[in-house]
Amino acid sequence: MESAPDRQRAPRRHLMRIAIAGCGQLARMLALAGWEMGHHFVFIADPGESTDCVRGLGDVVHLDDALSGANLYTALGQPDIVTVEKEHVSVPMLESLCDYCLVAPTPEAIRICQHRGREKNLLQSLGVATAPFRLVDSAETLIDAVESLGYPAFVKSCEQGYDGQNQWLIKDSQSLGTLAASMDTLPDLVVEGRIDFDRELSLIAVRSTSGDIATYPLSENRHREGILLTSEVPAPNVSQATSAQADAIAHTLLTHWSYVGVLSIELFDEGGVLRVNELAPRVHNSGHWSQDAGVTSQFGNHLRALTGVVPGATQPARYTGMLNLLGRSPSPAMLQAPDISLHWYTKSIRQRRKVGHLNLQASDRAILQKRLTELESELYPEGEAL
Ligand code: AMP
Repeated sequence: MESAPDRQRAPRRHLMRIAIAGCGQLARMLALAGWEMGHHFVFIADPGESTDCVRGLGDVVHLDDALSGANLYTALGQPDIVTVEKEHVSVPMLESLCDYCLVAPTPEAIRICQHRGREKNLLQSLGVATAPFRLVDSAETLIDAVESLGYPAFVKSCEQGYDGQNQWLIKDSQSLGTLAASMDTLPDLVVEGRIDFDRELSLIAVRSTSGDIATYPLSENRHREGILLTSEVPAPNVSQATSAQADAIAHTLLTHWSYVGVLSIELFDEGGVLRVNELAPRVHNSGHWSQDAGVTSQFGNHLRALTGVVPGATQPARYTGMLNLLGRSPSPAMLQAPDISLHWYTKSIRQRRKVGHLNLQASDRAILQKRLTELESELYPEGEAL
């Protein structure tokens, strides 16, 4: 007869308690995917963070300064794994949990990716192409960097910048002078030369604790007002060389960090040659199409990776797309359309806010592109601000 301790231990090998730092829509979609697998979830909320998206999906622990290490591990119900769903997570808090359970991705990857300067320096040291850049911390170094990289230049805050926030496009010496004059009030900045790219792509890659790596097909992404609007998968006209270059970038980064989980890589495509724009050490908006494409979704694969399961299928048989609902609800006709699946985040609607997305399936690319265009103009009539 099986002994009692064995019976208790057995399910824990595949049914885990997983803590997610953050309570937004990515936490929601991770938990929804994980519930199917039998995992249990607990969410870590920063002070004042909304927990609407994760209501009903697990306990919520509200962080305060006293909660770290053993106390936090206990408050979380002794999770097997801690992971993240957002950029701004306290790295010391994550490190304080490393003695008690698996924290994945590694806090070091999260620390690097929280700062554009550290991220760009790492990419450069690994031989991965980026836009030409300079890190600056004074009016003199800012002026020098823009003048040497040339106009127009992108100036970005190293921290706290996403969806085009905390970013300046410097087109001439006058706008440079204005920015330089306010340098004392600005955080550390990175100046980038402008890349004349043909399009923006992204790669969702995953590495399991077993070391197995898988990548999804490249997604072609379109933005509006700096926010992701649509993804089309597989991206059209991708040569084998371009796809191999993207995979090589993913392998370099994943093995460098012995990374566990999903890593998202935003890329500029300049005539088939790729440069990394930004990394996100987590599941990503441009991978949401994978939820309805007949493959293991990015959420499912993140959890498989964390729990020691090799990655599931990543190559869809059909054409697939994603359209973000930015401060908009879908129309009743959209809800009735057989080629659309709605993902709604249970957030209140505010201007420019990501409140849900529509995933689309099509048997050929022309139909997919036509549907994406139709839906986009219905949701965002031409010229209307988000
Ligand atoms: P980011 O916040 O770095 O993702 O930048 C927001 C958007 O600005 C990107 O999606 C690009 O469309 C554009 N962008 C950022 N950096 C550059 C660059 N160096 N050259 C050209 N376009 C850029």
